[in-house]
Amino acid sequence: MSDRDYYEVLGVGKDASKDELKKAYRKLALKYHPDRNPDDKEAEDKFKEANEAYEVLSSDEKRGIYDRYGKAGLEGQGGFSRGGGARGFEDIFEDLNSMFGDAFGFGGQGGQRRKKKSYNYDLDSIIELTLDFNDAVFGCKKEIEFEYKKSCSTCHGSGAESGEKESCPQCNGQGQVFSRQGFMTFSQTCPMCHGEGQIVKNKCKVCSGNGYEVTKDKITVDIPEGVDNGNRIRVTGKGNIYPDGTRGDLYISVNVSEDEHFVRHDDNIYLEVPVFFTQIALGATIKIPSLRGELELKIPMGAKDKQQFIFKNEGVRNVHSGQKGAFAAQIKIEYPTKLNDEQREALLKVQESFGIEAQPQDNLFESAFEKIKGWFN
Ligand SMILES: [Zn+2]
Ligand SMILES: [Zn+2]
Repeated sequence: MSDRDYYEVLGVGKDASKDELKKAYRKLALKYHPDRNPDDKEAEDKFKEANEAYEVLSSDEKRGIYDRYGKAGLEGQGGFSRGGGARGFEDIFEDLNSMFGDAFGFGGQGGQRRKKKSYNYDLDSIIELTLDFNDAVFGCKKEIEFEYKKSCSTCHGSGAESGEKESCPQCNGQGQVFSRQGFMTFSQTCPMCHGEGQIVKNKCKVCSGNGYEVTKDKITVDIPEGVDNGNRIRVTGKGNIYPDGTRGDLYISVNVSEDEHFVRHDDNIYLEVPVFFTQIALGATIKIPSLRGELELKIPMGAKDKQQFIFKNEGVRNVHSGQKGAFAAQIKIEYPTKLNDEQREALLKVQESFGIEAQPQDNLFESAFEKIKGWFN
C-alpha cells in the first residue's frame, strides 16, 4: 500500500464529489499509463498509487472507513484483498476500459493484451430442458437431442474461402484504430474487424463464412433426483469442437414445470388441503396425498384457516446435499353455501346448545356503544 494520503494522491479535497474523484483519477491514469511510460518504474508506481486511491475513495463504504480510521482501518477489510499491489495490471486496465471506454486501450501493449478470438463460437454449448414436476423431483433418464458446432472442414474454421484470413486493411492488422483529440491520441477497437486484426474477404461457400457446421446428436442423460429451476447439468465432452479436435462440454439448463396440486419452493413442498368446517369444529384425522404416497394429517379442534402442518423430510431431496426438505399441508376451511331443511335444523340445534340465539344479538354492540359514548363525557 502507498504511504501517501489518498486525497493528496488524487489531488482533491476531502469533500470531493464522486465526479471530481473520477475526473482526477482519469487525468492521472492517462498521465502515468504504462503504455505511455514504457519502462518507467516511477510512472508505474504513480499509476498504481492513483488506482489504489481511487479504488478506496470511489467506494462509499471504504471511503467512510478510510476517513475515520485511515489505511489501518482498511487492512482488516476482506474486500481490500484485491487492493494496492496485490491487484494486477490486467484488472486495472479492464476497469479503466469499462469506466472510460476503449479510449484507454492505447496501442502497443494494450493491443497485444487483447485476446485474439480465433473462432466464431465457444467451446462449451448450452441447451435448455423443461422437465415435468415429477421427473425433476424424482430424477429420470432423458433422451436429449442437441446440436453442436464443428469447424468447417472446407475453411478449417476461418470462414474464408481461401482457408485463411487476411490482414484488416482499416487497422493494418492492429485491431485498433487511432484518433487524435488535441495533444492526445486515443485508440479504439477497429470497427471493421472488431479488434481481431483479420478479416474474411471472400466467405467460404460451404459454411457461409461462419467457420462452422452444425451437427445434430442424441444422448441419454441421467437427471438427478431433486433438480430445480436454474440447475445446470454438465455433460462432459459433448460441446462444440475446435479445428484442433478439442471438444467442449454441453450444459443442460433445467426448467421445471409446475404441478397442479403441489407447490415447490426450493426443496419444500406445499399442498393446500380443503377441510370442511365441521372437521375443524370436531377435530379430525384425514389422509392427504404426499410426494411419496400419503400422509396422515391430524387436525386439532379449532385449527385456523391457512394454518400449516409441517412434515419433516417429506419434501424434495436436495440435489447437492441429499437432505430432504419439508412437506407443508396448509388447510383451507370450507363452509357450505347451501343448506337443506334438515341440515339447517341440525345446525340451529347445535348453535342453541352453545347458548347462542338464532336472532341477532345486540348486547355486544350496545355495550361497546356505551363505552365509546363514555369517552366524550
Ligand atoms: Zn467454411
Ligand atoms: Zn481492423
